[in-house]
Amino acid sequence: MDPSDARRILEEERARGRALIGRAGSIEELDRTKTGVLGRKAPVSEVQRTIGSLPEDERRELGRLTNEVLAELRAEVENRRAELEGGADAELLSADAVDVTLSGRRPRPGSFHPLTLVEDRMVDVFTRMGYRVAEGPEIEDEWHNFEALNIPPDHPARTMKDSLYVDVPGMLLRTETSAVQIRTMQSQAPPVYVVAPGRTYRRDTPDATHGTVFHQVEGLAVDEGISFADLRGTLEAFARELFGTNTRVRMTPDYFPFVEPGCQVAVSCFVCDGAGCRVCGNGWIELLGAGMVHPKVLENCGYDSERYTGFAFGIGIERVAMVRYGVNDLRLFVEGDVRFLEQFEGVA
Ligand SMILES: [Zn+2]
Repeated sequence: MDPSDARRILEEERARGRALIGRAGSIEELDRTKTGVLGRKAPVSEVQRTIGSLPEDERRELGRLTNEVLAELRAEVENRRAELEGGADAELLSADAVDVTLSGRRPRPGSFHPLTLVEDRMVDVFTRMGYRVAEGPEIEDEWHNFEALNIPPDHPARTMKDSLYVDVPGMLLRTETSAVQIRTMQSQAPPVYVVAPGRTYRRDTPDATHGTVFHQVEGLAVDEGISFADLRGTLEAFARELFGTNTRVRMTPDYFPFVEPGCQVAVSCFVCDGAGCRVCGNGWIELLGAGMVHPKVLENCGYDSERYTGFAFGIGIERVAMVRYGVNDLRLFVEGDVRFLEQFEGVA
């Protein structure tokens, strides 16, 4: 390249660059302009690459001029950048401005979820009877969830079909809150009077009466001399608190591995008082499972099963909420439909 051509190109680029940089209207545009006038393929860079082949005196003179143009254009880019950023800040400030003279928006109070209402109510009944609330992890190990509760490895409840296992060997989402009772017994000596409310999980196809998430309040009483009559009395007191003073309790034999004997418990319908209606069908509402704690479960927790006896029960919160509020589809509790939830505003 001829030295005079090089000089001309440098002067042209100085003028062109300044004009383009000054016109850039945004940071993005400025960055593109910078590449155009200072990048590897820009005319100034091309001149810079040819300098090495010139005679020494020309080389020194053109090198100085090239550096001068480069420095000037770089400074212009940074000035313009500062201007554009300042403008962006000012725009942001004006957009964020608050008009303090406007009247405020009144926050709309929410309401408790129906399951929370029912759970609180049930837990309240038991705490007034002297029970303590116990809590535990929702991800459990198989020993606490099954073995300690007298559910051996070949029990149907252990198969993958019914339980939701996590990606850690031997760990699953708890299928009942019973594991909390085990943890409580392991951590203290009798007497024990606890209720364990909480979320539990099972593998199920969701429909009107089945879900993969449901809530329970389980109870456990272990002491000297506890009998089946105590269980019946406790559940009767509970049912009367929840459904009214005329409520009767019916117990029918049933099998659960962790109790002996075990039973299903139904209460007389609070709508028809046992005559039979749309809510109950035959006058009774199946409410919970219960029984006397199996001696093996007590021994698994280090309790002397000759000296201590106890009872346990498990109540589905969804079940109670459905009969209590006349809800006919379990899925409504978890779908978060505001039209459904709003109906419980002000319900205590
Ligand atoms: Zn009825």
